[in-house]
Amino acid sequence: MEKISVFDIFKIGIGPSSSHTVGPWRAAQSFLRNFQLEHKLEEIKTLKITLFGSLAKTGVGHGTDKALVLGLSGCDLETFPVVEIESLWQKVRDTKKLTLLDKHTVSFEISKSIIFDLETVRFEHANTMDFSIETKAGISYQLTYLSLGGGFIVNTSSDEYEPEKQDIPYPVNKAADMLSWHVKENKNIVEISLANELEWRSKTEVNKSLDHLWTTMQQSIFDGCHASGLLPGGLKVQRRASGINQQLLSKSSYKSLQEWLVLLKNQNRDMATVTSWVSCFALAVNEQNASFGRIVTAPTNGSAGVIPAVMIYLQCFTENVEKSQLREFLLVAGEVGSIFKKGSTISAAAGGCQAEIGVSSAMAAAALTHCLGGNTRQVLMAAEIAMEHHLGLTCDPIGGLVQIPCIERNAMGAIKAITASQLALYSDPEKAIVSLDDVVATMWQTAQDMQTKYKETSEGGLAIQVRFTEC
Ligand code: SF4
Repeated sequence: MEKISVFDIFKIGIGPSSSHTVGPWRAAQSFLRNFQLEHKLEEIKTLKITLFGSLAKTGVGHGTDKALVLGLSGCDLETFPVVEIESLWQKVRDTKKLTLLDKHTVSFEISKSIIFDLETVRFEHANTMDFSIETKAGISYQLTYLSLGGGFIVNTSSDEYEPEKQDIPYPVNKAADMLSWHVKENKNIVEISLANELEWRSKTEVNKSLDHLWTTMQQSIFDGCHASGLLPGGLKVQRRASGINQQLLSKSSYKSLQEWLVLLKNQNRDMATVTSWVSCFALAVNEQNASFGRIVTAPTNGSAGVIPAVMIYLQCFTENVEKSQLREFLLVAGEVGSIFKKGSTISAAAGGCQAEIGVSSAMAAAALTHCLGGNTRQVLMAAEIAMEHHLGLTCDPIGGLVQIPCIERNAMGAIKAITASQLALYSDPEKAIVSLDDVVATMWQTAQDMQTKYKETSEGGLAIQVRFTEC
């Protein structure tokens, strides 16, 4: 039974991709940490990384090389100033030197030290990375890492990378387990999820970390709604969130995020206005993500806009929302995300876009349903409805950039989440024909049947229909 915390599903990171940016960044740091268990950094003469599969095919567009350099340099994913990414990258590129963990400098010519191997097929996973070191004494040290999506990584030579978590009172692998705990213990999803989290950290820590996640999400929406120009990467995609924000707010003025939130709460609530705002919020986050901005994986970077868009909709476009409900939103969403991770995948390289936008939409639908008063069965039903209408969605980013179709897909995922929630709230789950576990299993089967070219390779779909070569 895999033990996944809500804080494994939601991680503060940097765009544009959880599997191709956050995962490699974390893997680089883990690799050096492991090396230091047996050796000293000063012993390193050369270091090389080889990327395979989807990482090789779309790694340039996803900034994998930059993420590796930042990880090896020892930059912290949560706190490193995003405005300094480009200058650090250029310094390494120009000097052909890299200071490992800010301590030991080695020669590092990026094009020779980071290899995008497009030929070799590795069967471990679609996102495989080999890290190797040659020491001054001629010793070779090598580890292989897999990037599983959502920033999760595995060191294939060790089961010990992620420290074993303490046992939890309510283990949940499937939606059926959740329902069974609900019936046996008369607890809802928040109570079950919180009881599990409290085995790993105190209530104060849980609340503080949940609030920090929401603050980071809110900031990414706000920043995205106030940034203009072209996105990086050469596709010349124009940012749109700030224009929509301006048009919707007309001449209203504000000086801070807090004043902006007050304006949002006073907006019209007709369908056109609400859907425009929800789309704007989702675009804002993913435009930030595409620009190497700071976002929260939810459950991935490519789908990072869905949950914040639905949360801010809940906060500003529904009545009397307490801070505690926003925490509960994240707990429910995290629990549903972990059911998908355990029963299927949250990696586009393994399951296509249904694994990213589909899962985030299901997470948001469930959480919104809980916060709007739905019972546990309706919450699970909302997740099922949202995923049911993303099944088979392929991953085909043009030029390997997380921009088209990715950014708009977040708006679609958010709107579908709200619709799924409404449907569940007006339905009797006892009469539902498809269960959440049915849809999780179907998603996994569909992932197996999906051709590799539709799984984050940029070798199928829009990525070949609209020709653009970035990587
Ligand atoms: S198409 Fe979907 S899964 Fe693929 S990179 Fe874009 S958002 Fe992620």
